[in-house]
Amino acid sequence: MKAEHYVGGVFRSDGPAFPLIAPVDGTELGSVPEATREVVDDAVTAARAALQGPWGSTGVEERAAALRSVADGIEARFDEFADAEIADTGRPREFARTVDVPRAIGNFRAYADLLYGRPERAYTTPIPGWSTGTGEALNYTVRRPLGVVAIISPWNLPLLLSTWKIAPALACGNAVVLKPSEETPSTATLLARVIDDAGLPDGAFNLVHGHGPAAAGEFLTGHPGVDAIAFTGESATGAAIMRNAADHVTPISFELGGKNPALVFADADLDAAVDGTVRSSFTHSGQICLCTERVYVERPVFDEFVTRLGERAEALTGYGPMISADHREKVLSYYRLARDEGATVVAGGGAPAFGDERDGGFHVEPTVLTGLPETARAVREEIFGPVCHVAPFDTEDEALRLANDSPYGLASTVWTRDLSRAHRVAPRVETGVVWVNCWNLRDLRTPFGGVKASGIGREGGEYSLDFFSEPVNVCIQI
Ligand code: NAD
Repeated sequence: MKAEHYVGGVFRSDGPAFPLIAPVDGTELGSVPEATREVVDDAVTAARAALQGPWGSTGVEERAAALRSVADGIEARFDEFADAEIADTGRPREFARTVDVPRAIGNFRAYADLLYGRPERAYTTPIPGWSTGTGEALNYTVRRPLGVVAIISPWNLPLLLSTWKIAPALACGNAVVLKPSEETPSTATLLARVIDDAGLPDGAFNLVHGHGPAAAGEFLTGHPGVDAIAFTGESATGAAIMRNAADHVTPISFELGGKNPALVFADADLDAAVDGTVRSSFTHSGQICLCTERVYVERPVFDEFVTRLGERAEALTGYGPMISADHREKVLSYYRLARDEGATVVAGGGAPAFGDERDGGFHVEPTVLTGLPETARAVREEIFGPVCHVAPFDTEDEALRLANDSPYGLASTVWTRDLSRAHRVAPRVETGVVWVNCWNLRDLRTPFGGVKASGIGREGGEYSLDFFSEPVNVCIQI
């Protein structure tokens, strides 16, 4: 797979190249062009020209049809997309085939449906005549695209998360400049091929590759020609982008990091809670923003829960690597730090040795910790690996206090059989998503996002359409 920029309908690979490394075994997969300031300028100019050209005058039906063509195009190249995502990330094949590629197709179809079924969202919402004492007026609302939208996406769910923003941005009539993570350029390049084949007007979608700080990401988010920024990634990166965007008061939508809690009450179905926590802590080797890193268990079932979770973690096989050598070192440094801070390592705690080519890759062991104080850095900071710390609690109030004592607020999971407790606890957990007796069950129409340092704004269904379009009031004197 050759990574290329896609600017104004043209594929190009100018700019210095950097190597793309396979996380599964450390071998070189190819090279990626690093977009210079000129390439980014060209992409923003091409996006503006598209808005002033044919893309700017498309109607809802045409845009819905375009989104469906893109979805069909991804489906037709399903295996190529899956293979590219697997090569860039080292994730298990099953994950790419059941999560990444189907969700990308689903993202385009979901927003085509939303638009096609509700054209008034894109046109007008009439408000009945209302007198202000200066005569009667008819007010209506036009939903206008924001303009040129910069999308910056992370490496953990490259295709899923970029299309989660590209689809609604295009649905609302914006022109897009995507900068995917430097670690995962391949599915974005394939997507540009599909969009090119689908016949979207030149410049409606543009792609630039490269790094973030002092590079393509920063050039793009500080660009005066960018009208809005939709970003998914670390909270610290969000803060840097906010500073960069401040000069032009560019609107932002942020999906950021987490330190997600799970609350396991003694009345829970313990089999389901253990199964669920194995999934929520170790799926994709913990490299999903929604993964659980803090587990609070009611004291009567604490010992049994820890024993069972530890056994399950030790027995895991076939898990994928960390995305890079740097990220593996970051996760292992937290394993060392947790020991230094006084943790008991119940399972894992290091890097596995396979005795084959995978030893050249970036794997770490699924890890279960106990015994840390809540002030420990390993309990407070996002690690973004296959690791959770388990601590006991005695009362519902204490469980809530522990769960909420975090700078983050992305997602949480509550395990209980008590319906009243579920309804009492769920609204009091300070996270943007609260799952009860499940994890990562997603209906794409629901609001998705974080509170506190985990994000700004909501995406999903009409919430995304609200961000990617601007309601404008038209007032006609009668
Ligand atoms: P990251 O913040 O390091 O990078 C994300 C993107 O930002 C990359 O494309 C990168 O090149 C770019 N970038 C970095 N510095 C930049 C800068 N100064 N200006 C402009 N762009 C810049 O994040 P990551 O390591 O790729 O992803 C993991 C993080 O993403 C975790 O914190 C995870 O929790 C978070 N995440 C959140 C969600 C969510 O929905 N809330 C989803 C997935 C991942």
